[in-house]
Amino acid sequence: MVSAKATGPHSPGSLLSVEDLSIADVSTLLSLTSRLERMQHAERSQLLSGRRVALLFYESSTRTRTSFELAAKSLGITTTLVSDKSSSIEKGESLKDTGLTLRALGAECIILRHQHSGAPVLLERVTGLPVLNAGDGTHEHPSQALLDLRTILTRLPGLERDVVDARSLAGITIVITGDILHSRVARSNAMLLPRLGARVILCGPKELLPEEAFGLGANVEIERNFDRALDGANVIMMLRIQRERLAGLELDLTGYMAHFQLSQDRLRTHAPHALVMHPGPMIRGLEIAGEIADGPQSAIEDQVRHGLAVRSALLLRALASADETRRLAGEVRL
Ligand code: ASP
Repeated sequence: MVSAKATGPHSPGSLLSVEDLSIADVSTLLSLTSRLERMQHAERSQLLSGRRVALLFYESSTRTRTSFELAAKSLGITTTLVSDKSSSIEKGESLKDTGLTLRALGAECIILRHQHSGAPVLLERVTGLPVLNAGDGTHEHPSQALLDLRTILTRLPGLERDVVDARSLAGITIVITGDILHSRVARSNAMLLPRLGARVILCGPKELLPEEAFGLGANVEIERNFDRALDGANVIMMLRIQRERLAGLELDLTGYMAHFQLSQDRLRTHAPHALVMHPGPMIRGLEIAGEIADGPQSAIEDQVRHGLAVRSALLLRALASADETRRLAGEVRL
């Protein structure tokens, strides 16, 4: 297996990890996202007209797949979906051969979701195409971290949405709770948000948050008491327990819910003004009370909408020239 850590993507349009992006790149992407969102449909649909992108999905997906596909179509891109359930992957074809086949068919960029950490690195290496990581194993989900960032910048008062620097999230505390061990969303967020000044608190039981399993960077802490973690939180990100990755791990769900469920009582008592986020899919009544997901503090549907917008910018970055990308992003600041 290829190491999940790329030595830096070969294609400047790839996004394999949030580490591929400088803060200036994040800023450009946010500006570009806003620019694309404001653009008239007719103009946007000409930007990448006739270009070809393949969506290669080895794991199920609702939000990520649909938003990448709709984002691509809104830019005029022709898309094709290849999933493990209905392709030669089922017959045992390797990732390498599938990638080479898609390239031979004219794909100019591949959006990949895969159960193995590091699969996007391998795919990029063998195809030489820009690859957008749509979630690889327990490693990373960089487009999710970008859409989460945009959601936070949009929903919390007083923050600038289109331009960020190392102090943009100074003073903001973000609590990420649940199955941290298996969460590529937690990993990408814990790598990106502190670089913009946020304090990130990870919360969960030892089984789902072993100290040694998560390389804690600067501004990332562990707090096992959820109530204490919530006191002073500006943002709460709840995570699903990833049953498909538990691999024999036994969890006492009743105990888990007692200590780590975001219940109405808990939210009211400890974080009555915090923004509540969840990358989905959420299991209502397990990690989060349904009323909270539907309530005024929830930004869950906003996250989905920002996903569509941010993924348009990522596709443009993958397929347009660097100059064109900067030109479009720059217009928003004029
Ligand atoms: N949708 C997210 C992911 O693909 C989170 C989850 O599956 O729980 O990582």
